[in-house]
Amino acid sequence: MDSSQPFVAVLGIAQDGGRPQAGCRRACCVDQPRLSPACLAIVDPIADQRFLIDATPDIGAQLAMLDRIAPRVGAGRVLDGVLLTHAHMGHYTGLVHLGREALALPGVPVHTSERMATFLLGNSPWKELVDHGHVEIVQFDTTFQLTPSISVRAIPVPHRDELSDTVCFVIEGPNHRVLWLPDIDSWDGWDVDIVELIASVDVAYVDGTFFDDGELERDMSAIPHPRIVDTVRRVADLDASLAARVRFVHLNHTNPALVRSSSERATVVEVGMRVADEGETVSL
Ligand SMILES: [Zn+2]
Ligand SMILES: [Zn+2]
Ligand SMILES: [Zn+2]
Repeated sequence: MDSSQPFVAVLGIAQDGGRPQAGCRRACCVDQPRLSPACLAIVDPIADQRFLIDATPDIGAQLAMLDRIAPRVGAGRVLDGVLLTHAHMGHYTGLVHLGREALALPGVPVHTSERMATFLLGNSPWKELVDHGHVEIVQFDTTFQLTPSISVRAIPVPHRDELSDTVCFVIEGPNHRVLWLPDIDSWDGWDVDIVELIASVDVAYVDGTFFDDGELERDMSAIPHPRIVDTVRRVADLDASLAARVRFVHLNHTNPALVRSSSERATVVEVGMRVADEGETVSL
């Protein structure tokens, strides 16, 4: 990768609760390496700017990881903005670290949908971040220019929208397009054809929360996500070249595809798909 050109870096691949998940005493979490909630950095060395998609509870560790990946970008300013997908725990609560108890930068732009903006401006402790001048809410339209070389398209996504709506992002640089879609209820309930969307990008990071039904002891219908087996069927069976663009993120701690030696991981790899790795980069 040419590090003088814009790129994205994966800073987290786990579901909202990360790994270890609070209270999990099973083999999936005991003595396993830590994984952070899903997060993508957007880095523009030309504009000398760095952004995060989503502010996770692990934002401190994730900014430190970003410093290892892109130490020379934004050397004078840690963070030039945050883009939010939605108001679930793993995706926005890290904003508290932007306040006076921690980072306390002046006016970090937080790019959100209209409904997400209304939620943040109407509730503590989020509105205090704005009142104290540490966060500046920037409501996005469908497509917006993040830097002179990077544009972003926000696409509404069906998801459990208790506090806000939900979007995914297509990030477009001078040479490549990347999709970041960590959370969706199902491919069927969407007015966008996932196969067409994958065909329109170079790399597609998509919701891989669960591998298949029966993964949790509780009722899984209350937490809908497309199963990896379903995404494999829809995309790989149709077009092997499209499968090679798919990288799963937002994996629940119980997802057997997290285990590199598992047959479930082999199923993903066999069709040309991948489970994303923390620290991996894609040039834009
Ligand atoms: Zn999530
Ligand atoms: Zn676990
Ligand atoms: Zn969610």
